[in-house]
Amino acid sequence: MDNQETLLQYPSSSFLADVRKHTATETITEKEITRIKVNNPNVKRRIVVGNLNKETVKFDPEIPLYLTNNRTIQQLYNDKKICKLIIEAKIRRRGEYSVVRSEPTSFCRSMKTAKVRIKENGIIRDVKFYRMFCNSWNCPTCCKRKANMVRREIIEVSGLNNLYYHLVFTLDGTKIPYEYKNSELNDTHKYITKIFNHFLTLLRREKRDYVKKKTGQIKHFDYSQLEKELKYIWIIEFQKDTKNAHMHILLNQFLPIEVIRDLWMHVGGGVEMFIERVKTVKGLSIYVTKYISKGLNGVDGSNISLDCGFKYYERRYAISNSCERKPKNSIIRLFDILPTFDLKAKFLVKQGLDWIVNELNNVTDEEVVEVSFDT
Ligand SMILES: [Zn+2]
Repeated sequence: MDNQETLLQYPSSSFLADVRKHTATETITEKEITRIKVNNPNVKRRIVVGNLNKETVKFDPEIPLYLTNNRTIQQLYNDKKICKLIIEAKIRRRGEYSVVRSEPTSFCRSMKTAKVRIKENGIIRDVKFYRMFCNSWNCPTCCKRKANMVRREIIEVSGLNNLYYHLVFTLDGTKIPYEYKNSELNDTHKYITKIFNHFLTLLRREKRDYVKKKTGQIKHFDYSQLEKELKYIWIIEFQKDTKNAHMHILLNQFLPIEVIRDLWMHVGGGVEMFIERVKTVKGLSIYVTKYISKGLNGVDGSNISLDCGFKYYERRYAISNSCERKPKNSIIRLFDILPTFDLKAKFLVKQGLDWIVNELNNVTDEEVVEVSFDT
């Protein structure tokens, strides 16, 4: 009974305000294990997880099962009480800049995931509990980690999609509208994101002749006739001197600079730009992602004032949907498969998995983890 109650308890509002960040916490590395001592695990049982249609989910013994009691944003939004708290928190934080706090947020490492390895016969081999990092840009424990995760992701995706072309877009200081930059504010990153989206829309419709600068030849550009689907990643940086944003774009194909320049100027960008093919994708992605971790030193470093110019909800980079990605670990959320009180109770008791859920909910205990069973 105790167990059922803990499952249904809602966390405090300060936690809820930032819970969306947990959705990014889906990659777990062995390094991040913390140990939790479980007394008398009481299971040598077959694990069966069903979904709502009562179908049994089959497990590949090679692929571990991840169980978590953490909820997704979508699940939280379905809950009216929680939804209201999230909206209030959003309003409260509107316009706030992303600055690294001196203390980790209350929700950082307050949730756990259990990695359950199963034998061929369905019996649990071992269970490891991981604490989940909040992964927010302004947490001193996680900012560096988050930056590294983003870097790794960009390097991985650019390699996977052969993003060999490097395009740089700049802004023309005299063309930036007053509402994006004045003596009191610098929202040039917002402006560049906006015009970049406009640029993409126009590019997708583009069909025209242009004169090649180097040779004077007349060429034809037709976006719909491109051989490959356009794939890209963009990353925003601020110029050291002017503090204006500029954009590095990694592309999977060459686009004629004459066409790009016209469009970029048309949407309100600056004239300075270049496109080049690089020798190695890795070198390029390492170079363009350097900025992401700049100034982030986390708990042990002294440099904690990350006034990076971004507001906490603003994007610093984006990966186009057309890019292929590595499959992520899939996590089975107890809230996904067990949405009702009844189902939860039945599931846990029947399978002897209540101790796993207890452990997931127990975050005050000493840090210990790893449960294995002899057969
Ligand atoms: Zn954190």
